[in-house]
Amino acid sequence: MQYPITGHQLLGFSESSLGKNTFETFNPQTGAPTPWKFCEATDSEVHMAMELATRAFTTYRDMPGIRRAEFLRAIAAELEQQQQDLVSVYMQESGLPEGRARGELGRTTGQLRAFAAVAESASWMDVRIDTAQPDRTPLPKPDIRKCMRPLGPVVVFGASNFPFAFSTAGGDTASALAVGCPVVVKGHPMHAGTSEAVGRCIQLAARKTAMPEGVFSQLQGSGTVLGGALVRHPATKAVGFTGSKAGGLALARLGAERGEPIPVFAEMGSINPVVVLPSATDPSQGWAKAYAQSVTLGAGQFCTNPGLVLGIKGPGWNTFSAALAAEVDAVGSACMLHPKIAAQYQVLRSDFFAQPGVTQMTSISSDEDDTQAKGAVALVSADAFRKNAGLKREVFGPFTLLVTCEDQEDLVRTLNTVEGQLTASLLGNEAELESAATLISLLGDKAGRLLVNGVPTGVEVCPSMHHGGPFPATTDARFTSVGTDAVKRWIRPLSYQNLPAGVLPPALKNDNPLGILRMVNGQMTTDPI
Ligand code: NAP
Repeated sequence: MQYPITGHQLLGFSESSLGKNTFETFNPQTGAPTPWKFCEATDSEVHMAMELATRAFTTYRDMPGIRRAEFLRAIAAELEQQQQDLVSVYMQESGLPEGRARGELGRTTGQLRAFAAVAESASWMDVRIDTAQPDRTPLPKPDIRKCMRPLGPVVVFGASNFPFAFSTAGGDTASALAVGCPVVVKGHPMHAGTSEAVGRCIQLAARKTAMPEGVFSQLQGSGTVLGGALVRHPATKAVGFTGSKAGGLALARLGAERGEPIPVFAEMGSINPVVVLPSATDPSQGWAKAYAQSVTLGAGQFCTNPGLVLGIKGPGWNTFSAALAAEVDAVGSACMLHPKIAAQYQVLRSDFFAQPGVTQMTSISSDEDDTQAKGAVALVSADAFRKNAGLKREVFGPFTLLVTCEDQEDLVRTLNTVEGQLTASLLGNEAELESAATLISLLGDKAGRLLVNGVPTGVEVCPSMHHGGPFPATTDARFTSVGTDAVKRWIRPLSYQNLPAGVLPPALKNDNPLGILRMVNGQMTTDPI
């Protein structure tokens, strides 16, 4: 390994190991500890990281976007340079296969470059200029110019299920850095080694591109104390989180209860309902197989995993249900990210099977152990589902619940009892979809992404993507954590009234030195004023 994993905190350009307590990570494939020990970050290290971030903020905020873009591209290049080592640590700590590790790293570098382009284009500044009308009656109109600016230091919680793409150098970090917010990451304790290896690439890139020290720091810890201290710290201006509902809500509460409340953008659980219209139950459509693959992909450890499938009773639905269960049953056990996650999956799955009216459609494999888990399908009537809030919980893993509805009306009544979701899917032919306006509208109320004739797993990273959704999918349905709009979580508007030309920020100057598209007196233009 080019840079050995030390288990230390990364503070600005240096490292620190004040904490006396340590923790380990495990290889879920073997159950053996990895060779490293990680220091638990102390309160004074939290303070140092936040102080450095605060100091870096003023320089970093005012830097031209082209410089921040250079930094983001340098991180991507560093990750690629050290790909071999990174993939090896990732596989040791996550139990995920090499193909997934390389694919996820590619997605991560792609995200960094996409946000570099955003930083460079300055499109996120959303400039509006209304020039003065000194002769307006009865009152003159002042010169008002508005643009977005960064909030300040952002704390990012690495996610357990995406050690690269939603962690240290993931979308939250890249989007915050793109718009001028320094980032302090709380590494996920299940993959602290991967977090450190990635964090060192960011440190190196920051040095190489002459960023202000403190633009990035990373602290590690294995309990709730560290995360709580970071959210409470007065220098923290916003938080990005992906994980459990309990964790997200606890952090959102902490953020709201501070002397200065701050936004906590938490992406939490989702069961991603799928509605199977009658034509889609036909075996020739292949949806049972496609959905079995989606449910079991990556041992079901995706926030967009389809955990709830609804159809209307009849022979077609019976055939589809049996086929989906048989396909899931045929997939062997898979290694989960951590024994804690595997144990939670097995307990929740048994709990679902034990609920009134639930039929277990798949077998439990004898080769399951502390980390291996097998996919599962259960079936229940819409009536029993509606009455039982316990059946609406997320089972994080390769599990899906089939719900049999009496008719279309029953389907709508049932969907009305489902909470906010990241995605909702609809399978059917053109004629069915054309007469499904009510259903489409209802699903639109429930979810952040509505898809037709596809599977919800696999989230494209592009400007039109929305990866968010009404509560409890996230704490704020207006924002996304994937795609270029993710930057909107870390910025706020500022109006400048009657400022002399010399002190206006470049984006607002008359000659438009950045060459960006602006709204000037109600018209979109790149022209100078
Ligand atoms: P988690 O328990 O929510 O933890 C995520 C991060 O938040 C960890 O760094 C954790 O720190 C921290 N944290 C959690 N609660 C906290 C609190 N009250 N105060 C301060 N920090 C807190 O999620 P996880 O570890 O990734 O996995 C656990 C479960 O979350 C999974 O089994 C699954 O059910 C769910 N999950 C869902 C998704 C999704 O996208 N739907 C993704 C990942 C996980 P410590 O671990 O150090 O306490």
